[in-house]
Amino acid sequence: MTDSSLPPRLPPAPRRRVLTADDYFDGVVQGNLAMLARAFTLVESSAPKHHAIAEELLTRLMPHSGTGLRIGITGAPGAGKSTFIEALGLLLVQQHGLRVAVLAVDPSSGVTGGSILGDKTRMGRLAAEENAFIRPSPSAGTLGGVANKTRECMLVAEAAGFDVVLVETVGVGQSETMVAEMTDCFLGLMLPGAGDELQGIKRGLLELLDVIAVNKADGKNAEAAALAARQYHNALDSLSGRQSSETPAIMTCSALAKIGIDGVWDAVQSKCDARRKSGAFRRRRKEQNLRWLWAIVEDQLRQALHTHPGVQEICEDVENQVLAGVMPPAVGARRLMDVIIKT
Ligand code: GDP
Repeated sequence: MTDSSLPPRLPPAPRRRVLTADDYFDGVVQGNLAMLARAFTLVESSAPKHHAIAEELLTRLMPHSGTGLRIGITGAPGAGKSTFIEALGLLLVQQHGLRVAVLAVDPSSGVTGGSILGDKTRMGRLAAEENAFIRPSPSAGTLGGVANKTRECMLVAEAAGFDVVLVETVGVGQSETMVAEMTDCFLGLMLPGAGDELQGIKRGLLELLDVIAVNKADGKNAEAAALAARQYHNALDSLSGRQSSETPAIMTCSALAKIGIDGVWDAVQSKCDARRKSGAFRRRRKEQNLRWLWAIVEDQLRQALHTHPGVQEICEDVENQVLAGVMPPAVGARRLMDVIIKT
């Protein structure tokens, strides 16, 4: 007997086939966006069962990558990063005929599971473009782990034929150094009204930046933006140790009114061109690859340490003894390390 008030039974959903490395590889090099998204998910996965296939995929994609221009973009929350990236992305896609991928290193995502950078809904118009792809920050692991995953996604995006990879981060802690170290050119978006203290900008950051763009140079902010740009000039003049070809270009722009975005792009390109001519471009990428190698080793060592059963067995006892002041931290560290080294 059937109950006619029940909805008809739907046929079971087809089981999703487990993809092989060939499926991922073919999909990515053909520029298939659905497959690109799945390849990002694969390389971002921290599940051990995905490691072998992710490594095979990355190895096979390697000869197809390296062709994109890698641009890092940083700025304080509210500086206008997503507005700017959308404006720049649309300019590159619509006027220059380029394919643009946007990735992110969100320092909050690995640590708190929260998000400073939000997600791609912020760049709805760019996301709707056929030749643009926006991927939020990987969320698992340490900041170093997040940065390593973003680097891998960058290779995958290049192999999928993206000409420009924009890597967004936020002006908090170590993440800026990490993004500067994975890109060819690093752009800082600043707010106007910098004041004498230049928004407390860290000297270290000024040394990382290749292009400084004071954003929101529109309406009543235009003058304040021009003044801030002059102050950055002065601040940089007083910084020694950087060759003049390496001093950052400084300009104003308005991401909202779309003023000066092409000027920022020109500055980014001329920085990259100068580096190509001097050989610094290739040298920098090689050095970045070596640093990347060691960053992964360190990340994996840290993970191995924290997940090792032998370490877990004794770590509470070691911590308690260090807390109680009866074991010097160096002795505790040695006991923990011995577990790893001797197994
Ligand atoms: P993010 O936090 O750095 O990604 O900043 P958003 O792009 O979300 O921008 C923060 C706020 O600043 C939003 O209300 C934007 O509309 C505004 N904004 C961004 N760029 C400009 C600009 O060039 N001019 C003006 N007046 N406002 C802007």
